[in-house]
Amino acid sequence: MSTYDITIIGSGPGGYVAAIRCAQLGMKTALIEKYNTLGGTCLNVGCIPSKALLDSSEHFHNATHNFDQHGIDVTGVKANIEQMVKRKNDVVSQTCAGVKFLMDKNDIDVHHGLGSFVDKNTIKVVAEDKSETTISTKNVIIATGSKPNFFPGMEPDKKRIITSTEALNMREIPKKLLVIGGGVIGLELGSVFGRLGTKVEVVEFANRIVPTMDGTMSKELAKVLKKEGFKFHLQHKVQSVTNTGKGVKLTALNKKDEEVVLEADYCLVAVGRKPFTAGLELENAGIKTNERGQIEVNQNLQTNTPNIYAIGDVVRGAMLAHKAEEEGVFVAEQIAGQKPHIDYNLIPGVVYTWPEVASVGKTEEELKAAGKEIKIGQFPIKALGRARASMDILGTIKVIADSVTDELLGVHMIAPRAADLIMEAVVAMEYRASAEDIARICHPHPTYSEGVKEAALAATEDRALHI
Ligand code: FAD
Ligand code: NAD
Repeated sequence: MSTYDITIIGSGPGGYVAAIRCAQLGMKTALIEKYNTLGGTCLNVGCIPSKALLDSSEHFHNATHNFDQHGIDVTGVKANIEQMVKRKNDVVSQTCAGVKFLMDKNDIDVHHGLGSFVDKNTIKVVAEDKSETTISTKNVIIATGSKPNFFPGMEPDKKRIITSTEALNMREIPKKLLVIGGGVIGLELGSVFGRLGTKVEVVEFANRIVPTMDGTMSKELAKVLKKEGFKFHLQHKVQSVTNTGKGVKLTALNKKDEEVVLEADYCLVAVGRKPFTAGLELENAGIKTNERGQIEVNQNLQTNTPNIYAIGDVVRGAMLAHKAEEEGVFVAEQIAGQKPHIDYNLIPGVVYTWPEVASVGKTEEELKAAGKEIKIGQFPIKALGRARASMDILGTIKVIADSVTDELLGVHMIAPRAADLIMEAVVAMEYRASAEDIARICHPHPTYSEGVKEAALAATEDRALHI
């Protein structure tokens, strides 16, 4: 039997990063992954493949919509979905191979197979060929991630009623796609196909898309996507979706409780993800889950069985790769006796539409509900010279600060490269900067980052310069 200081179950961004940090801290480390490739949801069927297809479809969109205005004449441009998916698969393979390299480099033993608890210090790994390995371990980190959720009536058949995993491997460009859920996955993957010419209709339960983001972002993003041809059915309760053989038929109730019937080639179900613990046999280690299926953890990410920790999508909090990574490092350092810290308020969120949407800290709605006195500065992207030069004029940057202390409380933006721009706000908020601090920093010209400075100036006694 192999013996380890730590065994990590699941090789997603939570698990593999935890493994690296544990190895760096001198622990003899094992990583268990049931699939043949490492990297989990994020690398195989999540962040990386979706961004690869978003980039390809963005190139196509620019070639067919924007090149002519830049003075580039192209004719006969066609989208080749098979090549796009092939390139995406190549990107995934290279990225997963990179994780394998990192495991080897850090002397981490990788065991491929389904990991399950025999008891709190013993884990059985059953490989694809049914061979079994037993591991003895001092500590364990559960990083088994999540899988797509669905509600009664919308069960994916993975043929016409699909999840994100099938949407990333389409062999044709649908003429029409229904998306249930106007959240991150629905809007990112909807954008991929919308840009390739698919008519996209989103059926959303809430009264706005990306309902957990700042309201201004929902409004602005809806405007942008409508311009791209998206149609939104808000406040609709889906009753059923059926595969009709050549397509799908969806029935929903609108806010007046009237029946609405929609038809399309495919229906993407994107109503959130649920924690994945099947096969772990948690009961053998006495580990508790809550009513949402999440593994319960304390502030140190420790389960009720003290030598077992859990991180990432399988525990409470945002289902984001970088959150899982932070938690992986946190637990490794915690076990090594260090005093790590995660500020969950400062985990940024991004939607990779174009323009991108990014945010950090609290939304205007959250702050108002908490009774906080706030001031808001906003700056439109179209007022930036850089934006006019690149023709990316849509979007806005919103800075929210405390009315009394001027401390930054939330920054939200829909802007070109917002995913990268948001880091200025994250760093500033990590150091508890005020809006005026940002406003007084020299920003390079011409850049999109000047929009952050201008929004901060707008929040500081309404003194934006270029509007
Ligand atoms: P996972 O990445 O889900 O990894 C869990 C791993 O555990 C899997 O490999 C699984 O096979 C393995 N496993 C499970 N049970 C066992 C077992 N018993 N034995 C052995 N192995 C097991 N997040 C972002 O931050 N940015 C994005 O751009 C982004 N885009 C996304 C796009 C899509 C389409 C999807 C679906 C998700 C996206 N996410 C994104 C979310 C991100 O993928 C997850 O938050 C992240 O992967 C969670 O990491 P994790 O380590 O907790 O789990
Ligand atoms: P989500 O929570 O972002 O969005 C789900 C949407 O579905 C919400 O708008 C919700 O109101 C709606 N909804 C829920 N039930 C519904 C119903 N019955 N009918 C109609 N609409 C309904 O979830 P997602 O888009 O599935 O993504 C899952 C997770 O993956 C998210 O937590 C997200 O953080 C992560 N993810 C992140 C990124 C990124 O960081 N760029 C990209 C993709 C996925």
